[in-house]
Amino acid sequence: MVAMASWGRLGRWQHEVKPLRDRASVAATLSEGTPGIAYGMGRSYGDICLNPGGILWTTRALDCFIRFDQSRGILECEAGVLLKDIQRLFVPLGWMLPVTPGTQFVTVGGAVANDVHGKNHHGFGSFGDHVQQLTLVRTDGEKIKCGPGLKPEWFTATVGGMGLTGVITRVTLKLRPVDGPWMTVESIPYDNLNDFFELADDSEKDWEYTVSWIDCVSRNARRGIFLRGNHSRRQSSGSYAPRDIRLPLTPPVSLVNRFSLRPFNAAYFYLKKRRAGQELTHYQPFFYPLDRIVQWNRMYGPRGFYQYQCVIPPAHRREAMENILDETTRSNTGSFLAVLKTFGARCAPGLLSFPRPGVTLALDFPNRGDATLKLMNRLDLIVRAAGGRLYAAKDARMPRELFENGYPQHEEFLAYRDPGISSALSRRLLGS
Ligand SMILES: Cc1cc2nc3c(=O)[nH]c(=O)nc-3n(C[C@H](O)[C@H](O)[C@H](O)COP(=O)(O)OP(=O)(O)OC[C@H]3O[C@@H](n4cnc5c(N)ncnc54)[C@H](O)[C@@H]3O)c2cc1C
Repeated sequence: MVAMASWGRLGRWQHEVKPLRDRASVAATLSEGTPGIAYGMGRSYGDICLNPGGILWTTRALDCFIRFDQSRGILECEAGVLLKDIQRLFVPLGWMLPVTPGTQFVTVGGAVANDVHGKNHHGFGSFGDHVQQLTLVRTDGEKIKCGPGLKPEWFTATVGGMGLTGVITRVTLKLRPVDGPWMTVESIPYDNLNDFFELADDSEKDWEYTVSWIDCVSRNARRGIFLRGNHSRRQSSGSYAPRDIRLPLTPPVSLVNRFSLRPFNAAYFYLKKRRAGQELTHYQPFFYPLDRIVQWNRMYGPRGFYQYQCVIPPAHRREAMENILDETTRSNTGSFLAVLKTFGARCAPGLLSFPRPGVTLALDFPNRGDATLKLMNRLDLIVRAAGGRLYAAKDARMPRELFENGYPQHEEFLAYRDPGISSALSRRLLGS
């Protein structure tokens, strides 16, 4: 047995870890025993990739590129390939992932299973929108090939299906063309939520990527920094080769606390405000601002942290966001990593995909036990009243009732579950 954790480091639990060594032997490994769940990079924050006391099928050894059609940007690869390796290999060839989350240390299988989103949802949707086909291996040995035009019912269950329909072994992706690695990025400070929404709505037409950091500690204003970016034809003569920064150890207490947050947020805001304007930026710091800080999750100390990410439909976006931010500020818990962005009016590809039209807010909270859980319970009430939902990839505690309300297609999904697959999250939210 091996102690395994997820990104939030809320605990380490014993698992029987079984590596999936190659595509050909996946079915045999799955038949050796159940219940299990696939584990990619464990970059999910909560319990979606954990199965305490049970089996974890680790997928990182499924890391082969199978085929690439350079004229059309169609890539077939195994599910344990990292987004980082796709970007590194294909950007120099003029192709890039059309949708990418805020870290590139994620496997293709994990990106499909959570149907991850990036900063360009209004134009490009979510990861599953760019999957042409995938192969699923079930614990009874059945292999299912599916895509939007091939057994689409299996495809819509598996995209965003939290690893519960089978183990994805290979994926065909459509990449998007780019002129190179450089982007035009503009940063604009704002002072209140109305300004944020105005900037987000006005930017959607001309800017592919939009996102914002918001200060949820300051009591007097909802200030933040809005970022918008486009791929650039201009190429910098410089190169991008930064050194990684390493946290030398896990501090005995969280470095993010009520004493550090206020000055830190204020300093961050004024520093960014001074440097507002347009610049040519490499795609890596724009898409993956924290990836250079190796194991930054350790800064929350030995008790770890929760991430709370919700999406609120357009009709209630202003009021619900105001209430969530007020509640957070009042709690004195605060969050440094507070990310606010809008989703476009697109229909998600998966039955349980998280993105839906509206605005999404992600907040990191150091784990202070009961106080943190109570705060999140209060936030749940606001999300529920506004008809919103929480993101399972970030979750470690959402109540079942909130999940069922937020994901009206959850019952339809059950028909596609693999009975040999279970996670801590599925037991909590789906009963098994
Ligand atoms: C710094 C940071 C920034 C992030 N930013 C974003 C963001 O902007 N947008 C966003 O959407 N997410 C974001 N995330 C979350 C992350 O993208 C997702 O949790 C992603 O799914 C993690 O992939 P993984 O390979 O680590 O999978 P894991 O966390 O190991 O597993 C995630 C789920 O995928 C399943 N799974 C993994 N591999 C397979 C497979 N081969 N077959 C079937 N199921 C499989 C697992 O069973 C589990 O249910 C961020 C995470 C971090 C740490």
